[in-house]
Amino acid sequence: MLIVQKYGGTSVGSVERIQNVARRCLAAQRQGHRVAVVLSAMSGETNRLLGLARQISDDPDERELDVIASTGEQVTVGLLALAIKALGGRAKSLLGHQVQVRTDSAYSRARIRTIDARTIVEALDRGEIAVVAGFQGVDDFGNITTLGRGGSDTSAVAVAAALKADVCEIYTDVDGVYTADPNVVSNARKIARISYEEMLELASLGAKVLQIRSVEFGMKYAVPIHVRSSFNDNEGTWVVPEEKAMEDVLVSGVTATKDEAKITLVGIQDATGIAARVFKPLADAGIVVDVIVQALGSDGNIGLTFTLSNGDLKRAKEVLVKHCSDFVPEERILTESNLSKVSIVGVGMRSHAGVALKMFEILSQENIRIQLISTSEIKISCVVDAKYSELAVRVLHDGFNLGVQPAP
Ligand code: ADP
Ligand code: ASP
Ligand code: MG
Repeated sequence: MLIVQKYGGTSVGSVERIQNVARRCLAAQRQGHRVAVVLSAMSGETNRLLGLARQISDDPDERELDVIASTGEQVTVGLLALAIKALGGRAKSLLGHQVQVRTDSAYSRARIRTIDARTIVEALDRGEIAVVAGFQGVDDFGNITTLGRGGSDTSAVAVAAALKADVCEIYTDVDGVYTADPNVVSNARKIARISYEEMLELASLGAKVLQIRSVEFGMKYAVPIHVRSSFNDNEGTWVVPEEKAMEDVLVSGVTATKDEAKITLVGIQDATGIAARVFKPLADAGIVVDVIVQALGSDGNIGLTFTLSNGDLKRAKEVLVKHCSDFVPEERILTESNLSKVSIVGVGMRSHAGVALKMFEILSQENIRIQLISTSEIKISCVVDAKYSELAVRVLHDGFNLGVQPAP
């Protein structure tokens, strides 16, 4: 088999752990597999590097930030290649530009366009373990780019797709994808098999165990993804195409994002094109908005509410004051920060009624006020005050009976 293994920050967080990773990939090779490994930086390192840059500038040049942030992965791939050799194995480290992970030029959030797998294949043909730096790529002009936080997951699945690997194993500090973040909900249950669609929703709604783009790649190129722990040999979670039995489960997981804010424009005259006039300047400023609700007031005017990230709130308000003052004065642009979006996800929702109602009842029993609601075929999200985020996740997890049941 051809296996791509990805080890996250905690799994390569010290020299001892890198030596443990070396033993694991050599063990896979000794079982007769061809092995390519994709690594993250040591845990905390990417934050440290970005912090150094921010000590020099409040608004650092994005190209230089990627030059700096990508170095964390350069260190771990070199160390792992050394560790494999020290154990008598053969290995070669490869950086993004050497593999030719070609991306667009969107620094700090670049998208992979193509991967030229030849250098990796040549290394594997020589009997080496190919040790590839995650998170980094190169654009058409030779600039170093990075793929967004958590981007090594995407590097790994993209390498697996390019190599047509049999499996992409994501080794992390939990032994699979759980019904909720196991660090928040102590009785969360490991999910044996989850569909790409559900994993996409969980990843985009806050479950950082996989970066969303890695799931997109997996789905597009049919790469089976196996999320598991680097500290034991337990079977983890398989992310696979949807199976019939998955529809029997109403809710597969609960997740939450923090760091949300909302803006409400009140008392706007109901005229054609208003929404476009609000969202055009925001889009031009690169501000991403999420849940949008438009409502008609009893006075015939409309209110327009939308969510965005806390970090963009100040800038978004400035943009609106500048571009929308002719139809909504500043005092009617209301802002609120520190919100959380709590979501339940499950393909079973497509064919079952009453799931949303149950979610609202569970939240109301805890007196958690719902500020906004948004739904898709397989998810329901409620925006609530961030201080209730973890409580909401726990009560929803219990209310939908997702946890490990205590022994009788
Ligand atoms: P790595 O450094 O290996 O990439 P991450 O910290 O990015 O690891 O992702 C693993 C973390 O994801 C876990 O420690 C866990 O707290 C978090 N997580 C959030 N939601 C879930 C979930 N539903 N299942 C498993 N882990 C989750
Ligand atoms: N080192 C990068 C980060 O911290 C990429 C990754 O770990 O996946 O975001
Ligand atoms: Mg990660």
